[in-house]
Amino acid sequence: MKNIIARTIGIIYGTYGPAHDPYGYSERYMCTRFSDGTQVSIMVHLGLNCKADVDGVEIDLCGTAMSEGGREFEKLTGISVSGFISMIGKTKTRRLRSCRDCGSRKISGMSGFPGEYIYICGKCGRVADSGVDVSAVI
Ligand SMILES: [Zn+2]
Repeated sequence: MKNIIARTIGIIYGTYGPAHDPYGYSERYMCTRFSDGTQVSIMVHLGLNCKADVDGVEIDLCGTAMSEGGREFEKLTGISVSGFISMIGKTKTRRLRSCRDCGSRKISGMSGFPGEYIYICGKCGRVADSGVDVSAVI
């Protein structure tokens, strides 16, 4: 029997294309590692081209391929593309609802360098979460 030993989720924001006319994209990913050493990774890329990668299987989610790709994604992962996107978003947001150090729910955002976001606990003053929105910098 194999157990889940680690799960990494995240959202990456970035841009591609020429510097004078960049296009934004986002990628939501989840990587699950099991006790037998295997791992499963799922990634959904939303941008000029929309695609998914389920453990090395690339799925086209653009235009007319969307419904077919969506069905393939759901068959491989057990969750719809929109369900996966929503789940990653909710999980990342949930982290911000309370401070990891004191449990306080008074979390406020602060602006840092361009593209940088910092969430500070209103009770203990520690950084509750931080990150970088790469598309705001490039
Ligand atoms: Zn705190």
